[in-house]
Amino acid sequence: MDWHRIRSDFPILDQQVNGHPLVYLDSAASSQKPRTVISALTHYYERDNANVHRALHELSARATDAFEAARKKTARFIGAASEDEIIFTRGSTEGINLVANTWGMQNLRPGDVILVTGMEHHSNLVPWQLLAQRTGATLKHIPVLDDGTLDPAAIETLLDERVKLLAFVHISNSLGTINPARELCARAKAVGAATLLDGAQSVGHMPVNVAEIGCDFLVFSGHKMCAPTGIGVLYGRMELLEKMPPWHGGGEMILSVTLEASTYKPPPQRFEAGTPDIAGAIGLGAAIDYLESIGLENIHRHDHNLSNYAVQCMGEVPGIRILGPQSGQRGSLVAFHLDCAHPHDLVEFANSHGVAMRGGHHCTQPLMRRFQVPGTTRASFYFYNTIEEINRLVEVLHAARKFFS
Ligand code: PMP
Repeated sequence: MDWHRIRSDFPILDQQVNGHPLVYLDSAASSQKPRTVISALTHYYERDNANVHRALHELSARATDAFEAARKKTARFIGAASEDEIIFTRGSTEGINLVANTWGMQNLRPGDVILVTGMEHHSNLVPWQLLAQRTGATLKHIPVLDDGTLDPAAIETLLDERVKLLAFVHISNSLGTINPARELCARAKAVGAATLLDGAQSVGHMPVNVAEIGCDFLVFSGHKMCAPTGIGVLYGRMELLEKMPPWHGGGEMILSVTLEASTYKPPPQRFEAGTPDIAGAIGLGAAIDYLESIGLENIHRHDHNLSNYAVQCMGEVPGIRILGPQSGQRGSLVAFHLDCAHPHDLVEFANSHGVAMRGGHHCTQPLMRRFQVPGTTRASFYFYNTIEEINRLVEVLHAARKFFS
């Protein structure tokens, strides 16, 4: 693979920041966009822009075709049985809230258990806290071991028939841990629990196939996989979706409306009230085409090489503590704490050298408490990053040590 050529598909990366070449290591927060995605958006707005599903005129037909083609592409991309199992959302957060407010409100009773893990992003925790308060269900979590993996003994004891939902992150945005999704879904299924997989950090980084994994729901965010912000996906198994009530009410999700009551369309339209992010969905389709042209296995391998190399080199910086698995498979990010500097100061220092990272709790406050750190600095990679950029990061970390000590 010619990764340097692939990198040149991303115009934003070719710039200086604070007098240094930009080293963008914040893709876990949001990825950059290749030219093909940017031109799909421009093309749509310059040639086809109109509302979908509503008018019989040419532009509306083109917009509808492109929008629905993106849904089909997304279904194929994640191995869904039908495009009707793909609901367009604003992102992972909205997808989880949709499931909590529909499936959750319909299926949970006092005494039921919602099981999450101790490494969830707030967006896969707070909606379940709200749901537990509203339904009387109990929220429990699988603890995280010191090496950043889930405690297998706790899974054994916690996953019993009281559990109605197991909701867990595929790749942790704060540790880089890759959770064994297939195995966890099979165990949940064995006790009759539904499963929701948070694929915000995995989809677009590795092959993710819902049929192979066996999850009931999968959420992910377009902006983390080369697509625009404002578009995301909730996949749901049709057997569950068709029993779920709507969440948002409005145009496009109804069959008929009287002043007193309404009937609703089948999925996915039942869950897509109002005008959707048409351009965003088309951009997501373009991003999927682009990622598939490189190959998800290739991307995963490259991500893995980068993060393994980073763990090795960064581990040699004095006073550094790297969180998460130190060897084996890990996601494409390294979160760490440098003893001489607060993460925010370190991120500012790196920024002054052109290196973009993120510092703080990364929307995982319980995990920060678990590891007894105020926050971490996170360097996160995607396939457009290079070994040279990791070398540059390590140089900047050594310089930071001198500066702050
Ligand atoms: N889950 C994980 C693991 C994430 O990393 C993120 C984004 N940081 C989210 C959920 C939420 O995604 P979004 O903000 O795009 O809804």
